[in-house]
Amino acid sequence: MSSNLSSGMSFSTLEQELEELKRQGLYRCCRTVEEIQGGRIRIGGRWLLHLASNSYLGLHQHPAVLQAAREALGRYGAGAGSARLMAGTFSLHEALEEALARFKGTEAALVFPSGYAANLGILPSLVGRQDLIVSDRLNHASLLDAARLSGATLRVYPHRDTARLEEVLKRRRAGFRRALVVTEGVFSMDGDVAPLAQVAQIARRHGAWILLDDAHGTGVMGPGGRGTLEHFGMMADETLLQMGTLSKALGSQGGFLAGPRLLVNYLKNKARSFIYTTALAPASVAAALEAVRVIEREPLWRQRLWENSRRWVAGLQGVGYELISEETPIVPIRVGETAEAVALADRLLKAGVYAPAIRPPTVPAGEARLRTSLTALHTPEDLEVALEAFRAVRHAVV
Ligand SMILES: *Cc1c(COP(=O)(O)O)cnc(C)c1O
Repeated sequence: MSSNLSSGMSFSTLEQELEELKRQGLYRCCRTVEEIQGGRIRIGGRWLLHLASNSYLGLHQHPAVLQAAREALGRYGAGAGSARLMAGTFSLHEALEEALARFKGTEAALVFPSGYAANLGILPSLVGRQDLIVSDRLNHASLLDAARLSGATLRVYPHRDTARLEEVLKRRRAGFRRALVVTEGVFSMDGDVAPLAQVAQIARRHGAWILLDDAHGTGVMGPGGRGTLEHFGMMADETLLQMGTLSKALGSQGGFLAGPRLLVNYLKNKARSFIYTTALAPASVAAALEAVRVIEREPLWRQRLWENSRRWVAGLQGVGYELISEETPIVPIRVGETAEAVALADRLLKAGVYAPAIRPPTVPAGEARLRTSLTALHTPEDLEVALEAFRAVRHAVV
C-alpha cells in the first residue's frame, strides 16, 4: 500500500490520516476553475452560477482596475524583486498606503503580502508572553494562528457575546501587561456583524487595545464602503486598530493595517511578515489603488451588491431555507451535519450552481453550512436561475 523509500522512510501514517479525513467527509481538494465571467464560473467545462466569490464589488474585472495593473506591469515589471525595507518600496506602494489611510480615515497604513500575513505580523508585534488576547470564538484562522504565534495567553468568548467578553476582562486583565481584544467586523463564515460599539466600550473600560479584522467589511459596509467602523459611525475612534485585505472587495491581492503613524513605523520595525518577505507585486498594488478610487467615485457597485443581497435573502427565505444571518452579502444557509451539507452542495452543482459546503474545522462541528455570497456582477436573471436550483434541491435539506 505505502511505498517505502530506500532510506526506510515512509509516508504511510500521512496516508492513514488522509483516509480518515475521507471517512469523515472532511477531505479537501481544490476545484479547478477554468474561467470566471461576471457572476458565472466555469468548472469541468460547465458554466455555473458563482455564489462563492469574495470579490463583492466585482472590481477584479473592472476596466480601470485592469488598466492600472497593466500600466504598473509595464513600468515596474512583474515582481517587486526586493523586500520593502531593501529596494521593494516603490512610489506605487506609498501611493496605495496613502489612499488606504485616507479611505479608512487614519493617519497611516501599511501594506502586507496578504491579509493572512498582516495578521501574522500585527498580533505578535503588539503582544507577547506577558499579555492577554481576548478573541471572538468565530474569528478567522489567521487571527488564531497569529495569537498562538504571539505567545500571549488566549481567551475566547462566545460569538458576539459582549457580557462574556467583559467577564473575561474583569477576571483576567489585571494579571497582564497588555490586553488586546480581537474581532472581525463582518464574520466571514456567518455573515453577521460584530457589536463594535459595545466591544470598544468594554475594551476601553478595561484598558485593552482593539484590533478589528475588516476583511469582509472593507468596500462593503458603511455609506461610503469604508467598512464596519463607518457602518457604526465610529471612524473617528483612533484607539481602534484595523486591518483589512486587498483580496476581497478590492479585487486584488495583499493585506493592510490602518492606524496611527506611530504604529505603522513600529510595525515596519517589528512585524516579521512585513520585513522578511518580498514586497507586494506592482500589478497587485496598482489594482488595489485603483480599486480604492473606484469605490470612492462609483457607488453604483455597492448599490448593486446590496440590492442583490436583499433580493437573494428574500428569495431563499421564500423557498424555505433557514439562514444563519441576513445582514450582509454573505448569506449562509444552516445545515448542521457535514454529510448533509456536502450532499446539498453536490445537488446544487448538478443543478448549475456553485455554492460550496463549509465544514469543520473552518466552522465548529455540527455547524456545517452552505455559504453563499453575492456580488455586484450578479444580474437579476442570475439570481432567478440560482433560486430555481435552490428550490429544486430543497427536499435534500429537510
Ligand atoms: C480572508 C481573510 C483574511 C486573510 O486575507 P487574505 O488576503 O486572503 O490572506 C483575514 N481575515 C479574515 C476575516 C478573512 O476573511
